[in-house]
Formats: sequence, C-alpha cells, structure tokens
Amino acid sequence: MASKTVEDVLFPGINVRVEGVSDFSGILVVEAVSTASPGRCPNCRKQARRVHSTYQPSLDERPLGARRVIVRLRVRWYFCDRGSCSRTTFVEQVPGLSARYRRSSIGLAGWLRSIATELGGRPAARLCRRLRLTAGRTRLLSC
Ligand SMILES: [Zn+2]
Repeated sequence: MASKTVEDVLFPGINVRVEGVSDFSGILVVEAVSTASPGRCPNCRKQARRVHSTYQPSLDERPLGARRVIVRLRVRWYFCDRGSCSRTTFVEQVPGLSARYRRSSIGLAGWLRSIATELGGRPAARLCRRLRLTAGRTRLLSC
C-alpha cells in the first residue's frame, strides 16, 4: 500500500501544506499553509501578483473522532493592482477549504447546512451540540 502524506489524508485535493498538528485538551489544532496559486480579486477577478502580507484565520473543521478540529490556515493578503477596481487588498481563499466571511471550513459548512435543512432551527442546534459540532443557531441559519 502506498503511503500517503498528511495532506492527502486530512485535506484530499486541497492546496495546503500541513506544518503541524497539536492536541490542546482534546482540540486538534492543524497548522496549515495555502499552496494555491495566487487568488483573484473578488471584485474585478484580476489575478493577484503582489502579496501585501499574510493572515492566519482559524477555521472550525469537521471533528476527528471525539476531537474538535481547528485549522489555523495561513493565507496571503494580496493587493489588487487594477486601477479602476474599488478594492485595494483582499485575502485569498483556498478552494474546497475556506470561503469569505466564513469561520467554518467548506466541509463543516456543508454538514451544518445539511443538518439545518433536515431538522431546522432548535433541533438542528441540539444535534450539533450533541455531535460537538461548533454551530450556534445563527450560524446554522446562515450556512
Ligand atoms: Zn480588483
């Protein structure tokens, strides 16, 4: 059997490199870095060329066994160089993992959306608590 990298196991098909995994009292914290090609400005779609800085948001990810998983995802903050664009900088997103204004991974957001669709409001929130999925009622409604 061919051995797999930690990226293949945790993030199949997603452009990230895992730099470390730590266990903080039952919460797995995965340090990951985007290896995606430069992002496009969400306003004008121009591909970025200049990096402004880096940024490391924390994303809630689906649990692994009984442990909560948090991905500390290092992404790049880019300049938009199109003079006519109203946006001067923007944060890259990693396809399949992160989305603008979301604190949940794409995978976790999909789970939450399914649970909310099937159960609705309070029952969905109760099930999420029981499964230790991080989701308030507001987040369930917004995904
Ligand atoms: Zn732009």
